[in-house]
Amino acid sequence: APITLDAAWLRAHPLPVHEDVDKNARGRVVLIGGSARVPGGMRLTAEAAFQSGAGKVQLAVPDMLAIPLGVLLPEAGMFALPTDETGEIAGTGPVEQLLDHCDCLAIGPAMGSADAAGRVLDAVLPRAEECRVILDAAAVAAGHDRLPLLRRMTGRLILTPHAGEMAALTGEDRDVVTKNRAKMVVRLARDLGAVVLLKGPTTMLANPQGETALYGGGGAGLATGGFGDVLTGIIAGLSARGLGPWEAACWGVWLHGEAGRRLSERHGPMGFLARQLPAETPSLMRGI
Ligand code: AMP
Ligand code: MG
Repeated sequence: APITLDAAWLRAHPLPVHEDVDKNARGRVVLIGGSARVPGGMRLTAEAAFQSGAGKVQLAVPDMLAIPLGVLLPEAGMFALPTDETGEIAGTGPVEQLLDHCDCLAIGPAMGSADAAGRVLDAVLPRAEECRVILDAAAVAAGHDRLPLLRRMTGRLILTPHAGEMAALTGEDRDVVTKNRAKMVVRLARDLGAVVLLKGPTTMLANPQGETALYGGGGAGLATGGFGDVLTGIIAGLSARGLGPWEAACWGVWLHGEAGRRLSERHGPMGFLARQLPAETPSLMRGI
């Protein structure tokens, strides 16, 4: 039976304690994403990574976004990437500069093109030899043509699709995905050796060993632009701090949902913003 994610499960899988360590030892996150169509999305992911406790967050974004995002996020480091005429990332430059200082790499938030995301995966994944990797949004869809590349990341890969992205990755119809959620998530997790979490009103998670977990407590206010970008950032922060991929994904889904529940209690069930969510995570973590 699937694990029900609750405080008792989290207490049995505690967060790493970091005392007497510098910011590099607290966990370094690198985020690659953003596009002209969603120019502020990476702010959400980056703030969520910081507020889930990462020591260092660096962003690689389309060149025209590097300065404005850097000013919005004075805590973060920025890399400006070349951009195509549609405002999508067109290349990664010297990737080693990014990967040399990385515990968890997340690719895809706020990108609109699976082709662009695919070029990033081809350039970066073969060189990401140690770090944990999270693929979200367009980077999940881009995995469809790159399953062998994903399988090389066995044991350190997390995928965070919604039903449409899961359909694009597997080549199935969206209806087939929504009707066979558990079966598809378990099969994909086994096949890729990855943690897969399929988002929706209830989020279903599976790991390569066939364990599954469910969380359905967040409330419909989370079905609003930007909340998925926040989830990716929370998981990236926790993962960089040293939680394993399965624990980071389960913790992240729970924190995201509980923060949503808190916001809906405070403000009403709809209308709060994704950018309000990351600030809820430190006190939720302390409460466990
Ligand atoms: P994304 O589709 O990437 O924007 O992510 C949307 C987020 O909202 C995910 O964390 C989903 O699990 C969550 N979500 C979507 N629909 C609902 C719903 N009806 N109730 C609760 N959470 C939802
Ligand atoms: Mg999304």
